[in-house]
Amino acid sequence: MHRILIAEDESRIASFVEKGLRAEGMTPTVVGDGRAAFDYAMTGGFDLMVLDIGLPVMDGFSVLRQLRTAGSEMPVIILTARDSTTDTVAGLEGGADDYMAKPFRFEELLARIRLRLREDRSPDSMLLRQGGLTLDLRTHRATVDGRTVELSAREFALAETFMRHPGQVLSREQLLSRVWGYDFDPGSNVVDVYVRYLRRKLGGERFHTVRGVGYRFVGDESDAVEEPVGPAPRAD
Ligand code: CA
Repeated sequence: MHRILIAEDESRIASFVEKGLRAEGMTPTVVGDGRAAFDYAMTGGFDLMVLDIGLPVMDGFSVLRQLRTAGSEMPVIILTARDSTTDTVAGLEGGADDYMAKPFRFEELLARIRLRLREDRSPDSMLLRQGGLTLDLRTHRATVDGRTVELSAREFALAETFMRHPGQVLSREQLLSRVWGYDFDPGSNVVDVYVRYLRRKLGGERFHTVRGVGYRFVGDESDAVEEPVGPAPRAD
């Protein structure tokens, strides 16, 4: 699940980008000024930042400069209202990975985001494997015992969340916030519906119901590419 920081003070644009990214199965967080952008970016909890240049408190160029000075290598795509060569050159020299001139189409921004996220990862880390089940994070293709299975963006994001936490009980609320976003109605049964889809497509035995709590994904631990979250068990 990609965590994207959006630093944009125009709420119309921020919400447009936020909704779009969420619909793609990403987890966006919006901040409205340059100071917050820098602070959030420095937490290390984000895979990429979409950074507006004209921000209150501290402009996007300063945010970018301070980030790079502080050693952050997070990919940054700058948004500039001014379609000027000067801005673009300044942005790229200041350590931006790419830029978009406003107004832009969401698909254009999405393509650039995907490109930067991809560059950041080695081919091996783009595959999640658990006991006969493989998710290819680049192509969004799932294979079950060598057979290709088509998943929707949401199904893929849910399967990815499970596979990154093998053996762990994930509550409906956790799954809702990771896959659908924090503003989703907590009373919704959409998680149960989508787990049913995954059981049908990927095999019912992999997704255990934990009564009253949520679900647990059962994979083959020794086959895991990703480290399980949390401390490793002690050898003694
Ligand atoms: Ca602005």
